[in-house]
Amino acid sequence: MSFQYHRRYTGPVHTVIFDWAGTTVDYGCVAPVAAFMRVFEQNQAPITVAEARLPMGAEKRDHIKALLAMPRIATAWSATHGGEAATEADIDRLYAEFLPLQVAIIPDHAEPIPGCIETVAALRSRGIRIAGNTGYARPMMEALMPAAAARGYAPDIAICASDVPAGRPGPGMALACAIQLAAPSVAACIKVGDTVVDIEEGLNAGMWSVGVAVTGNEVGLPKATLEALPAEQQRRLKATAHDRLARAGAHYVIDGIADLGPVVEAITARLARGEAP
Ligand SMILES: [Mg+2]
Repeated sequence: MSFQYHRRYTGPVHTVIFDWAGTTVDYGCVAPVAAFMRVFEQNQAPITVAEARLPMGAEKRDHIKALLAMPRIATAWSATHGGEAATEADIDRLYAEFLPLQVAIIPDHAEPIPGCIETVAALRSRGIRIAGNTGYARPMMEALMPAAAARGYAPDIAICASDVPAGRPGPGMALACAIQLAAPSVAACIKVGDTVVDIEEGLNAGMWSVGVAVTGNEVGLPKATLEALPAEQQRRLKATAHDRLARAGAHYVIDGIADLGPVVEAITARLARGEAP
């Protein structure tokens, strides 16, 4: 008989890597939507909120490229641009217009999501390191980080899409966090995010991947707007969001960061039993 032996990390959780908008700050992931809509409007190809949200979580130039590749937007663009499809130069120009708009909006959406500050404090009290990563570029983070810190949330390190060769769904940002915080194994790391590409980033990095369904892009509404909806509509929005992140392969899906504690407990127990992500 032949056997194959597997080596497993059985230590504690070392690092939790949080996405920013929709996960730790900016309930509903509102800030990027307005900036994308404005740029496309001023380029004679207006887009809807739903369209603006579809590629969310990606690096922002990739996000613009993905929007222009959507059939409805591609048709609308060529209709107002002499029958021509958008070029790489057009994408560069749109990104250049997007950047200052996004930077200007970001500090107004830096409020920590309910439970963020308490959850991060609880994780730190167990010796767990905290990383932040994002589809935002460095200039956007330079606007967001001091505004979030002033409101009580500051991760130990922050990695941006523009710091690595490729953003989500690639594993680069999550791996860079693990390296910088000297994690003993990717299995000791948990990635938490609000979009499908956040989940894929964590899985591609070999980490535990946790989706936040209600506070982020999947429901896509500020807290007060969501809570003003009829209960049945809220229930349907939440269920759809949970389902999408679960189908992306998330190990766990929770409403928001406030519910992360029991998930970290569960992962800790699974690691101790020799389970891998
Ligand atoms: Mg996000």
